[in-house]
Amino acid sequence: MNRLQDKIAVVTGGARGIGKATAEKFAAEGATVIIADFDDQIGLITANEISATGGKVDFVKVDVSDSKSVGNLFGMIEQNYGRVDILVNNAGILMDSTLKKMDEDKFDKVIDVNLKGVFLCTQAAVALMDPEKGGVILNASSVVAHTGNFGQTNYVATKAGVIGMTKVWARELGRKNIRVNAVAPGFIKTDMTVGIPDKVMDMMLQRVPLGRMGEGTEVADAYCFLASDEASYITGTTLNVDGGTVT
Ligand code: NAP
Repeated sequence: MNRLQDKIAVVTGGARGIGKATAEKFAAEGATVIIADFDDQIGLITANEISATGGKVDFVKVDVSDSKSVGNLFGMIEQNYGRVDILVNNAGILMDSTLKKMDEDKFDKVIDVNLKGVFLCTQAAVALMDPEKGGVILNASSVVAHTGNFGQTNYVATKAGVIGMTKVWARELGRKNIRVNAVAPGFIKTDMTVGIPDKVMDMMLQRVPLGRMGEGTEVADAYCFLASDEASYITGTTLNVDGGTVT
């Protein structure tokens, strides 16, 4: 039996990287996956790839930081699918600068996508969850929420904030059988980390007990576990998928 058979799952930022690996995994486990991403070109390619392997998938262009765009996404889902079972709040961006050089625009943009976007999508998804069966919300945090990171005032604020919201929503939604958890990846091979200079990467990897970067599929496996009934008594927690970096 597939672990997510007949679930309706929304993966924001599902066009590429960790989100793509998650969409692929969820579809392989029997879910109908709605890829909700800003990038419609790559998003459609990813959806076609999943469909070609027999997966049930849809693509919707969305900007998670824009309430109107999020409203359109979940309006379409209500009309076409009637409910949401799983939401993976994976969309995220980086705009690094030291405290001294970070301007207000960079600060606001990262907060809008990584923090407000998670709030907007969760609020809309919860309204479409089955009152009998409940649902699952999964939020993308990061190893840096625990450790801090040079040049990431805005990003770390969002990733630590996501852990806080996860705990609040676990308390608010538990009685509705809606489980809410976060995943905190370490250094994962995606477009987000491709630009890190070799010297910096070597330094970062020295702090990883497993001595290597993670794969998107390894984060997707964690999301799949938390989305499945195998995690039926787990809520309000943050699962580190970081090769042991935070120990
Ligand atoms: P990625 O490869 O950069 O992919 C992120 C996806 O999100 C892109 O397709 C991007 O579209 C989309 N997106 C960006 N802004 C959006 C918006 N406003 N609305 C909808 N979609 C939007 O990222 P990733 O490395 O897979 O990371 C995924 C998540 O894991 C992020 O939240 C990230 O912070 C977190 N994370 C990643 C790592 C890592 O090492 N990679 C570590 C810790 C945490 P565009 O291409 O159009 O921007």
